[in-house]
Amino acid sequence: MRILIVEDDLDLSRQLSEALKDAGYAVDVANDGEEGHFLGDTEPYDAVVLDLGLPVIDGISILQKWRADGKKFPVIILTARDQWSEKVSGFDAGADDYLTKPFHTEELLARLRALVRRAAGHTTDTIDIGGLMVDNRSARAFVDGSPIKLTSHEFRLLSYMAMHVGRVISRTELVEHIYDQDFDRDSNTIEVFVGRLRRKIGVDRIETVRGLGYRLLDPSKDLEQAEED
Ligand code: CA
Repeated sequence: MRILIVEDDLDLSRQLSEALKDAGYAVDVANDGEEGHFLGDTEPYDAVVLDLGLPVIDGISILQKWRADGKKFPVIILTARDQWSEKVSGFDAGADDYLTKPFHTEELLARLRALVRRAAGHTTDTIDIGGLMVDNRSARAFVDGSPIKLTSHEFRLLSYMAMHVGRVISRTELVEHIYDQDFDRDSNTIEVFVGRLRRKIGVDRIETVRGLGYRLLDPSKDLEQAEED
């Protein structure tokens, strides 16, 4: 999962970026409205944390532009204290949630998890796929109850595939959702990550769909499918 933070307070943006990376996300940061708008316009984020008071272009205008351009990613706005009208304008512009400054990082993380899972159609932080358990709260995964050791990139890959279990996901889409913009991207490394992941969660769990990408299989659904066929 990849998150964009648009925040001109350098200390706060650095602190949030570190916390989100620790929580298992790929993170991009923009410190003014113009860069923030550009990144949201050009990169497919899984969620955006958007401060409203920003240099160059304000947060509400950015959000209005994104929504007018059909950007659907969930957005949580950061508002000043006691500015209830900001929250209303934010929701009217297309925000999905808000946090009032100052806030606890844990609360932002919890709200982001809720937005990301809801956008992907899940109701809890834990996704159970026939004995493969992906816990997005602790950024850990388990096979038949036993924890498996994953690097941060392997976890991001697994987490993204688990959020979209059963769907064929292209290499490009995986690259766009597990690396931040500064990462030296080489889509071949996705194959390496998939190979390592297969060795850890079971070779048969990830299907290669030639020319299209990869699919994390849900044994229960695929069984139903087999019975229907
Ligand atoms: Ca600000």
